[in-house]
Amino acid sequence: MCGIIGYNGPRKAEPLLIDGLKKLEYRGYDSAGIALVEKQGIQIFKKEGKVAALEAILPEESCATIGIGHTRWATHGAPKDRNAHPHSYGKVTLVHNGIIENEQALRTMLKNQGLSPISDTDTELIAMLMDHCYRGDPRDAIRAACALLEGSYALGILFEDHPQTLYAVRKDNPLILGLGEGEYFIASDIPAFSDHTPAYCLLDEGEIAELSPSGLTLYDRTDRIIKKPHHIADFGDISTVKDGYEHFMKKEIFEQPSVVRKTIDRYAENDRILTELGEDFRVDGKILIVGCGSAYHAALLGKNALEKYARIPTEVAIASEFRYSDPLLKKEDLVILISQSGETADTLAALRLAKEKGVPTLGIVNVFGSSIAREADTVLYTMAGPEISVATTKAYTCQAVMLYLLAMKLAHRSPAELKELPQAIESALEQESLCQKLAEKYASAEHLFFIGRGRDYAVSREGSLKLKEISYIHSEAYAAGELKHGTISLIEQDTPVIAVITDRTLLPKTAANIKEVRARGAQVLCIAPKNGLLPDCDRLDLPDCNDLAAPIATAVRCQLLAYYAALARGTDIDQPRNLAKSVTVE
Ligand code: GLU
Repeated sequence: MCGIIGYNGPRKAEPLLIDGLKKLEYRGYDSAGIALVEKQGIQIFKKEGKVAALEAILPEESCATIGIGHTRWATHGAPKDRNAHPHSYGKVTLVHNGIIENEQALRTMLKNQGLSPISDTDTELIAMLMDHCYRGDPRDAIRAACALLEGSYALGILFEDHPQTLYAVRKDNPLILGLGEGEYFIASDIPAFSDHTPAYCLLDEGEIAELSPSGLTLYDRTDRIIKKPHHIADFGDISTVKDGYEHFMKKEIFEQPSVVRKTIDRYAENDRILTELGEDFRVDGKILIVGCGSAYHAALLGKNALEKYARIPTEVAIASEFRYSDPLLKKEDLVILISQSGETADTLAALRLAKEKGVPTLGIVNVFGSSIAREADTVLYTMAGPEISVATTKAYTCQAVMLYLLAMKLAHRSPAELKELPQAIESALEQESLCQKLAEKYASAEHLFFIGRGRDYAVSREGSLKLKEISYIHSEAYAAGELKHGTISLIEQDTPVIAVITDRTLLPKTAANIKEVRARGAQVLCIAPKNGLLPDCDRLDLPDCNDLAAPIATAVRCQLLAYYAALARGTDIDQPRNLAKSVTVE
């Protein structure tokens, strides 16, 4: 959440910062701002709304070659100009990603010293605190202020009387250092600077980065200069353009056959699966899979496969619940953490809790070098490539595929069935225009239900989330047999119900539930096998495919339904209201 960019080099900073912010806008888009070190001092420009609104207020010409920028996802204070970053106090100007948890105590402490902030943010308090601690040495001030902060932060910092230097520090939020030819970047994510340099290095917690015209210097907690390995980003994996598609979401939906194939080919060679886990990999206890949002829904599909094929008891937990649940775990269990960004705050906390309890951990993430990737005992990367649309599609399918691969490995089964997946997804994409027609029919609904059983309930939950997050239609997913225990009272004449049936063995059961809602006036769309004998319903027929491919290919149909419902309603598909990607706050 929130995008930070900073630049120090020979080129004009302003266009580089704006370009970086546009690349990071998926992380937060309720306001944006930049600070530029001009001859007359640090100039700040900030504006409520998207980066385009900021661009409109920028000066014609800036000579600054150092600056910081921010695109915000508000946690403290409404998205207003005055709450937008950068925030400045005294000699300090900074941008912040994260949440300061002892904000109230700091506010009182600063007030007692006669200092009063002008914004509602926790961030401004950091600037005030840092200025308060500042005696002429920026690193001392950064360390002193950070020692008083509780919570999470990634900070890009400028000091008025050190106009040639940009500082960065972080705790529990990402910050990456881009290393160009005589120029340096800080950024929340690599695509913000990857047009300018492929080289980067990672900043660890407690370290301070000092970017000056003479180079990048890194200091550890004790202020000793340290050297860190440099990495080279793979440009093939950093395509962040729409490639002619109207939205990133649509592009990413259509990338699924290829990224799923890539993920399977990477991890399953003939009958050898996930060799990075070792030949004798086994789980003697239970498996616990932890995630948030769609990652949690991928986990539900994974549980189904792990229990069905490998017969290993598998539980699934929402990370924000798990972390405070005092979980019952044993050393022979395995905890799997799923997160597209690898930075999801609650999932990262769940990982740390599992490690504290001495349980082996496996991270499934999409972003190389992310916090979960670095801290988990073992990491498996999904091969989805960068996902820009806030609503996940290809990362979700790749997460489910990774869990399927794990199930096949633990079940000592051939991965052959998985190889059918890309083709099954292609068939789903071929139904695009039918999905569009059906989505347009249901797009005016206020409320909608998804129903399904077993793995189809898992797919229903993801279908429902996708629809509500981008179209803003209120939608709920129910285990088909559970609806009559209360929620069926909400079914009225013409309430839309989408019934998912990929599991033929459960078809008669879900068909009976369809009859129940039809009897109460619901209009039903069935996503079910051909010849499923489901009369009086709209139909999205599923061609024959195996039990592993069918739910994923159905989730793809649900993505298309959500996309076209949102398109019909004219919502902001790639950047839905109130949301942001990479949820780095609790
Ligand atoms: N907590 C800060 C704010 O509300 C930073 C939020 C962010 O990460 O964008 O301004």
